[in-house]
Amino acid sequence: MSSIAENVRRVREEIAEAALRAGRKPEDIFLVAASKTKDAEAVRQAVAAGVDACGENRVNELLEKDAQGAYDGAPKHFIGRLQHNKVKLVTGRADLIQSVDSTELLELLEKRAGMLDIVQPILLQVNIGREETKGGFLPEAADEAAAMAASLPHLRLEGLMAIPPAWENSGLPWPGAKNYPYFDEMYQLYIDIREKKYDNTHIWCLSMGMSGDFAQAIVSGANMVRVGSAIFGARTASQP
Ligand SMILES: *Cc1c(COP(=O)(O)O)cnc(C)c1O
Repeated sequence: MSSIAENVRRVREEIAEAALRAGRKPEDIFLVAASKTKDAEAVRQAVAAGVDACGENRVNELLEKDAQGAYDGAPKHFIGRLQHNKVKLVTGRADLIQSVDSTELLELLEKRAGMLDIVQPILLQVNIGREETKGGFLPEAADEAAAMAASLPHLRLEGLMAIPPAWENSGLPWPGAKNYPYFDEMYQLYIDIREKKYDNTHIWCLSMGMSGDFAQAIVSGANMVRVGSAIFGARTASQP
């Protein structure tokens, strides 16, 4: 078994453990392999090992690896900051754009999806830690953004995504057995928006949790985790 396959197996085990601990079903947790900087062969191994999707941070990387057949039919997600001039390249190519972080981007995506006559699935990214270095809607702006997304006929809002501050940057004491408050806040926001039942939406997805904290995220209510280094090993390239 390749080390990537072995890693996917271990991550799945940890996912299952966290899901069961939270009284949920392991198969309800969607595993996205965050494959930035990793080559087509590594991605292919992760797909063969049964990840549910692959997530890329850069449009060019997604298109290149796709052309190389890396994803082998697995869904492709875009999870990085989307430059406005790349909207035309990624719309209709990514099965889910997780990182929609502004109303301008909503408008641009709607326009492009309309031009292609498709419906583009999206998540709204929420800047739950209010970090200046991170994109996303502030928590109090998320509902209005959801209402706007619902009004755009060529976008289908499917949920929320967040990248909370790393523990060491959060200013919070180590939680011990307690849940991570940012994850709990995200879950509440997700439930609130889902309960609005906006037309033209299908809200099922809360994407949060990475290699260092996916178990904690699942306990708080995540049903999609984005895992990079725990599957592929540490990244040596300069990309974060
Ligand atoms: C890189 C990345 C991940 C995965 O990070 P790891 O800590 O390597 O698991 C998840 N989400 C996003 C948006 C990323 O850029």
